[in-house]
Amino acid sequence: MRGSTMPDLGARNEMIVLQAIRHARDGISQAEIIVRSGLSRQAVSLITRRLIDRGFVQTHGTLNTGRGKPRTVLRVTPGAQLAAGVHLDPAGISVVIVDLLAQVLARRSLDPPGDDPAADLQDIARALASMQDELREAGWSGPGGRDVAHLLRGIGVAAPGGLDAAHGVIVNPPWLPGWWDLPLGQLLEEATGLPTVLDKDTNAALTAENWSHADASEETVLYIYVGAGIGSAVSSHGDLHRGATTQAGEIGHLPTGLTGPACRCGRHGCLSMFTDIKALLDRAPDVTALPTPEAVSMSARVAALAEAAAGGDAVAAELIAGHGTALGEALRTLISVHDPDRVIIGGPYWGVLSPLALPQVRERALRSDARGRHVEIVSSQLGEEVGAIGAATLFLERELSPARR
Ligand SMILES: [Zn+2]
Repeated sequence: MRGSTMPDLGARNEMIVLQAIRHARDGISQAEIIVRSGLSRQAVSLITRRLIDRGFVQTHGTLNTGRGKPRTVLRVTPGAQLAAGVHLDPAGISVVIVDLLAQVLARRSLDPPGDDPAADLQDIARALASMQDELREAGWSGPGGRDVAHLLRGIGVAAPGGLDAAHGVIVNPPWLPGWWDLPLGQLLEEATGLPTVLDKDTNAALTAENWSHADASEETVLYIYVGAGIGSAVSSHGDLHRGATTQAGEIGHLPTGLTGPACRCGRHGCLSMFTDIKALLDRAPDVTALPTPEAVSMSARVAALAEAAAGGDAVAAELIAGHGTALGEALRTLISVHDPDRVIIGGPYWGVLSPLALPQVRERALRSDARGRHVEIVSSQLGEEVGAIGAATLFLERELSPARR
């Protein structure tokens, strides 16, 4: 991320400096921040002082570079502020508490969202309280011995679309039928006493990626989220593109050009016909190793499908390869539209599907790359907690931005 010295971009510049310090695990000097950020010496000095005053950054000895006088090393104080992240996924609810480095301090896995959101929100509130107790019992305290409750500033929630991020309302996600038109932000604030932000799981996952990669925020990144349904998110220079109504990145009905059954939208060959997990499982009746729906969770059935494919079951292998082929065709279009430096694929089901699907994705997506440069397509390394961690970082981003305080 590179900055600007224009005064109205002060808030953004503060994030840029904090990010430079955050990514330097062994500490960083002001001179290095100036080089990395493109900001002026005066701006970096002013912002650094402000971050130290707010307790987010501390000085940590000096570094002798051999040239000139020794430089003061700056480091983020990880426990200076905490945030909770909640991921409402049809496969289960994950709750985490993270610090300023997005390190998970405590975690809980709860049952999948049911038909009674009020009861589920109470469960989340109880989980957060018990996670704070757990941290106290383990002897955790913040700078100056401050208690976790004092440092936990708010909650980020990641949920499937459609939702209204600006108003914190879950609107009509096909995967959470009991939660439609729910003012989730307001209800969770009432249940926990903490301010809450809501965003799509895709946007949360991409934010987690941008926090974990030092260079990601300099790039245009396209993220593909493989959950119960499929979605995408795009960021450029660390800024997410949400669109006017948080609907950007809804790619389920993107035409793939492949032959397939009719979709409920009236067209043929929509991406979701090949990539929705339920559709994938419905098309696998002959896979003998596949447990029946009544017996186990959707996650276990997908894992069984992948295992059958790896064990030589041709039908299972073809279905998973078909997932990759369709996603690759969609990506071919999306790469032309967004011109990304990098494509990251992740989400709860990608881990088990990727060994067979990723080669197909790459083969199709890059088939007609006429631009003469290589687009990197990689799997996320952040694991299954990416949605919850990303939700927490969405809250931290909002909280840390001086413009929004
Ligand atoms: Zn469709």
